[in-house]
Order: sequence, then C-alpha cells, then structure tokens
Amino acid sequence: PAVLRGLAPEVPDTRFEDIGGLQEVKATLREMIELPLCHGKRLAAYGLPPPRGALLYGPPGCGKTLLARAAAARCGANFLAVSGPELLQKWLGESEAAVRAVFEAARQASPCLIFFDEVDSIAGRRGGAGGAAGEATAARVLNQLLVEMDGLAGRGEVFILAATNRPQALDPALLRPGRLDHLLQVPLPDPPARLAILAASLRRCPLAADVDLAGLAGEATEGMSGADLSEVARRAGTAAIRELVAAEQAWAAAHGQAGSSSGGGAGAAPPA
Ligand code: ATP
Repeated sequence: PAVLRGLAPEVPDTRFEDIGGLQEVKATLREMIELPLCHGKRLAAYGLPPPRGALLYGPPGCGKTLLARAAAARCGANFLAVSGPELLQKWLGESEAAVRAVFEAARQASPCLIFFDEVDSIAGRRGGAGGAAGEATAARVLNQLLVEMDGLAGRGEVFILAATNRPQALDPALLRPGRLDHLLQVPLPDPPARLAILAASLRRCPLAADVDLAGLAGEATEGMSGADLSEVARRAGTAAIRELVAAEQAWAAAHGQAGSSSGGGAGAAPPA
C-alpha cells in the first residue's frame, strides 16, 4: 500500500559500545528487550505477556535514537523508525492507516523494534484546550496507536520504543501497563560520559600526544549534548586532516612534485 512506502525495516549496525556514557540505561534496555525480542515465543508458550514497550525521554541529541538502534542490533532484530511529525504530515488524512501499516510491517518483519521518534506529536494529551482542526485527527491517531499496542499481545516478537523531549506532554494512556510502561531517562552527559562520547567519536582517529580528552570533558563542554560533542570531535578531526593535507602540499611544492597523494600519507613509494 502507498502508506507503506518509505517503511523499510532493516537490522541496524549501531553497537552499544559506540554510545558514550548511559551505562545504566544501556543495561536496563538490554535486559528489557531480550525477552520480548529474542525469546518472545517462550513467553507466549508460558502464557506470560511480554513487555511491550518503553519511553526514552530527555533533551535532544543525547542518544535516544542511537540506543534504540543498538537495542535492535543487539537482538539481530529489524528496526522500523517512524517520525511522529512525519506520520501526521506525510500521510495527511491517512495517518491512522499509516499507524496500522507500521504495526503490520513490524509483525511481518518480526522480530522487530518500532521506534517512534518525537512521539509527543502523535500522542499528546487528549482533550486539551484549543480544539484546533488538527486535534480530532491527532486524537484518532493516538487511539489507533493504543489499539495497535494492545493488539500486539502475544502476537509476534515486536517491541516499541518511543522518544520524546517532552514526557509531560504525553497522554497518560500511552504509559499504562502493557503499553510504554517503562520510562528511561536519557540525560545530558556528565563529565565521565562526555569523555566517553568524545573517545567514542574519535575512536578511529590518531590523537596528538597533547590532546587531553579528560580535560576537554570538564567545564569547557558543560551543558553540551552528545550531538554537540560528536560535532566538536568531527570539526577537530576535519581541521587536523586539512592541516595534514596543507602540509603535504607544501612539502610537495617545495620538492617540485606535482600534486599530492590524497590519503596516501607522506612518503609515497617511487614507481618501481
Ligand atoms: P533527538 O531527540 O534530537 O532525536 P536523540 O536523543 O535521538 O535526539 P541521537 O539521534 O541518538 O539523539 O544523537 C544524535 C547524534 O549525536 C548521534 O548520531 C551521535 O553522533 C551523537 N550522539 C548523541 N549522543 C551520543 C552518545 N551518548 N554517544 C555517542 N554519540 C552520541
């Protein structure tokens, strides 16, 4: 169906080791998804309802998406990412069908983890003030979401993770037992976590002897998110490569060689 276009479940390649800090959340998540995604059939055989989902909440850019991807990868499960705002806008008038299609696609791709990013846009409190035209649609989409979640019971190895920066804006019905009944906070990184994120981001870069990552993880980066830190690492790395290239070109010019070897580093071997 048209509504399914762009929904392509795949097993992600993100690893928990690539995510700096967040040790507790990682451990909880690992434990939480293992039964429903890896041993769902066993739970069903014993007549035990598996955990269905959890909510990741916290400021933007602190690893919610990374965690969800790593969780799916860990179980070799498919990952189906759905953006809340996109679900409303891209499938205008078809949003409820889109919700049904998402769950159907997940069941087909089971074991599968569905990730609803910015879930507050489709699961805000119902009956709020305003009464805007869009509100009735939003309420129907949320109802459909709840119906699909409840309908998952005992059917396929499907787990739901949702993310939001505004947990207080969510309709409480979403967080009832059997739905997103675990809340996991994904906070701004503290200094050890900032160090871990910098180190993870620079894992494959050779560092100069005077680079003091632990120092950088201190006050200088207070208040930065994981996304900010990985951007700092990216800029430092690209600046270093630019310097290296400039030095190679200067060396080549001084020695009368045309151009420079890109990526070959210094000391290219002479032709045999
Ligand atoms: P949003 O609420 O904006 O969707 P998010 O919490 O889902 O944000 P991510 O998408 O997981 O954030 O992170 C954005 C980028 O920031 C990642 O792709 C990664 O480069 C970097 N990043 C964030 N947190 C971490 C972390 N803990 N370790 C390593 N990199 C991180």
